[in-house]
Amino acid sequence: MTATNGAGEPVYVYRFGGGVSDGGKGDKNLLGGKGANLAEMASIGLPVPPGFTISTAMCARYYEEGEAFPESLRAEVANGIAHIESVTGKTFGDPANPLLVSVRSGARVSMPGMMDTVLNLGLNDATVEGLAKVSGDPRFAWDSYRRFIQMYADVVLGLDHDRFEEALEIAKEDRGYFLDTDLTAADLKALVAEYETLVEELWGKPFPQDVHDQLWGAVGAVFGSWQSERAKVYRRLNDIPGDWGTAVNVQAMVFGNMGDTSATGVAFTRDPSTGENGYYGEFLINAQGEDVVAGIRTPQYLTRAAREAAGAKPASMEEAMPEVYAELAGVFDTLERHYRDMQDIEFTVERAKLWMLQTRSGKRTAKAALKIAVDMASEGLITEEQAIARVDPAALDQLLHPTLDPDAARDVLTKGLPASPGAASGKVVFDADTAEKMAASGEDVILVRVETSPEDIHGMHAAKGILTARGGMTSHAAVVARGMGRPCVSGAGSLSIKGKDGVMRVGEREVKAGDVITIDGSTGEVMMGAVPTVQPELAGDFGTLMTWADKVRRLKVRTNAETPADCRTAREFGAEGIGLCRTEHMFFDAGRITAVRQMILASDEAGRRAALDKLLPEQRADFAEIFAVMAGLPVTIRLLDPPLHEFLPHEDAEFEEVAKATGLEVEALKRRAGELHEFNPMLGHRGCRLGVTYPEIYEMQARAIFEAAVEVAEKSGAAPVPEVMIPLVATAKELELMKAVVDMAAEAVFTDKGRRIDYLVGTMIELPRAAIRAGEIAEAGEFFSFGTNDLTQTTLGVSRDDAARFLGVYVEKGIYARDPFVSIDVEGVGALVEMAAERGRRTRPDIKLGICGEHGGDPASIAFCEQVGLDYVSASPYRVPIARLAAAQAALAK
Ligand code: PEP
Ligand code: MG
Repeated sequence: MTATNGAGEPVYVYRFGGGVSDGGKGDKNLLGGKGANLAEMASIGLPVPPGFTISTAMCARYYEEGEAFPESLRAEVANGIAHIESVTGKTFGDPANPLLVSVRSGARVSMPGMMDTVLNLGLNDATVEGLAKVSGDPRFAWDSYRRFIQMYADVVLGLDHDRFEEALEIAKEDRGYFLDTDLTAADLKALVAEYETLVEELWGKPFPQDVHDQLWGAVGAVFGSWQSERAKVYRRLNDIPGDWGTAVNVQAMVFGNMGDTSATGVAFTRDPSTGENGYYGEFLINAQGEDVVAGIRTPQYLTRAAREAAGAKPASMEEAMPEVYAELAGVFDTLERHYRDMQDIEFTVERAKLWMLQTRSGKRTAKAALKIAVDMASEGLITEEQAIARVDPAALDQLLHPTLDPDAARDVLTKGLPASPGAASGKVVFDADTAEKMAASGEDVILVRVETSPEDIHGMHAAKGILTARGGMTSHAAVVARGMGRPCVSGAGSLSIKGKDGVMRVGEREVKAGDVITIDGSTGEVMMGAVPTVQPELAGDFGTLMTWADKVRRLKVRTNAETPADCRTAREFGAEGIGLCRTEHMFFDAGRITAVRQMILASDEAGRRAALDKLLPEQRADFAEIFAVMAGLPVTIRLLDPPLHEFLPHEDAEFEEVAKATGLEVEALKRRAGELHEFNPMLGHRGCRLGVTYPEIYEMQARAIFEAAVEVAEKSGAAPVPEVMIPLVATAKELELMKAVVDMAAEAVFTDKGRRIDYLVGTMIELPRAAIRAGEIAEAGEFFSFGTNDLTQTTLGVSRDDAARFLGVYVEKGIYARDPFVSIDVEGVGALVEMAAERGRRTRPDIKLGICGEHGGDPASIAFCEQVGLDYVSASPYRVPIARLAAAQAALAK
């Protein structure tokens, strides 16, 4: 991947700015997102401070060589600095006219706040005087030096940050000041001297005065921050490979803190929360970049409209700096047209001159992603197909879940910013570790912090929602919560949080740790107690994108459902049939479980038939209701597949109930249950093994299916299309025997009722032997449905019920890229699926093929199903829209 120069040596440094662009937006892997986009902006003529990027390939080499740099890099970096010097006319380390640079990380994908940055590098005891002279502003020069020492000591030298903050606080207190800005040039100069003493005390050496030493220290620190704990946690949560590495961007400093014609800000070309087409952002006059994100000062609005909508007083940028604002708005439009996507931008204004510091594809909520994709296609900026590809199917999940019931009573405690949409209720927790612990034990928690930092990530992930007292819409909490899809209310300024005491207050009201609150990330409201929710709206942009997706997808999408309510939800979400109705789930109901237990515990056929007679009418009524809801769409009903341990009675009261129903002694029932105990129920007497040993069970179920089908056909006119599915088949013989039972029951019903129904009998392919012998099995089987839950369990030899205890480590160590019960193991389980599909088709060319394991709702697995040409996927109701979109993306990717 690394480019080479004329002499065949690798090139690690890429320049940009001043009419030069060694790279461009296609080079993200090598230059990182930030570096590639800086080069791209420079190449399309936007005002970018000159600089250079040290590539991610250097990061890899840095670690390979024991955290050291190759000699060849020195000349390259010197060349890069010379480039910046020639464009700016300043010289690095020159006391007369010093060049200052920023040193920032930049990986392939953005990892907000995870890695290190150093600003104002190039200042020392001599150059600070030069800066004071050139800028005509000694206070600015000494403040920059003060900030630089503090940042360098923290990030590069690893010294205790608090000691510097303390010194700053004392300096203010001694002089009776309240704000940092009250400090004069002389005060700051004295503070710098104190900082220098502090560095020497803590580090044992004086603060580095050689600007080149400063630069190499900072470059090493940025590469080093790739392996920091917080960066590692972030990568793990976001599936970012550890070997990508970061690039380092060295760039001429521009200053937003040179008085009232200077400013700094962040902006999105559209609203990242709602997707509305309008500029959206915040800026601060006379401030440096980090001040905006850190939430120390409250930023001002970018546009007048946004300021007015919020009822805020301080002037918007549009009003305060109309000319620069107009230029910035022009840049927004150029960037959107150029990248054909919503951009997230950082800029600085130095003495009325605009500089672009960053652009990237903006992170957005699912709602915004949807709206922006649909709008951009309607505006002709992208095609419908590109719009389909733009929306992450998994993120749709955010839109499909309930929002607060508008009619429910609300006891509003306070209001903050609507930082990340969605509603969440849970117990108040004030620190990330407790949030993680409580969530692990199944409790819903809301993480409440004054503001969040990268150290809080694990707690934010574990929480149902996040509430902060400080920070704007682009604060750490807001950005990270949106990325994670967690509802978030930020900057709820009236909250007084005393996390250590386990309380927060709003005026007179007090909320203790453990009290339940509700937050609404779409309005910013914070409420006491749990507020009820309502189902989401599926029309509008969502409906439009789904229609586009349906036009291009080939795979049909069905649902796994067994209650009429779930079937209805799934149909509203666009399910085209039922791919799996697990009949044993229909028996979990308290009213029925006793009859099921009676059936299981019966010691002979007569006893079983007595129980089955009770179950028949109930099953028939269930099926009739489902057929009616599905109105002529195919319905795959799987005959009983109960892992016995899930159904056997355990408690005395449960045995007593069965005893009452059967007239048998509790002791006799307990003895029978003992006989039925299995060591390995998942591999035990389940699936068709039950039908083979007790055919009367499947006979009853088949009868119920056909009687219900005839009944519904007569009533509604839309004839049901039952597909009867036999579970856990390993051999063709098992399927033949069970098919005979089903066919016989069908004939009996049809003769009895004087009406026939078309139906299919097929099987699940969920054991390796069935996949291998699929050619024979297809002789009796009219369809296959891949049960990839059991197929994964039996192919990997990993128990479905016990996997969670160790699979996490397997994924961490890269043995499996993802949990194979979530995303199909393409090389192993996938190979069996592919083979069975091929063998089944050879025997029966028109055999219907589907998948009904959990993988049927996982986008990556759906892509695999498209590749091997299955006919449909089946997913739980809420994942049906995800599957529709993923199927469309898979068809487009082919
Ligand atoms: C499967 O094994 O993939 C399947 C769908 O069946 P169950 O999960 O009910 O065992
Ligand atoms: Mg199964």
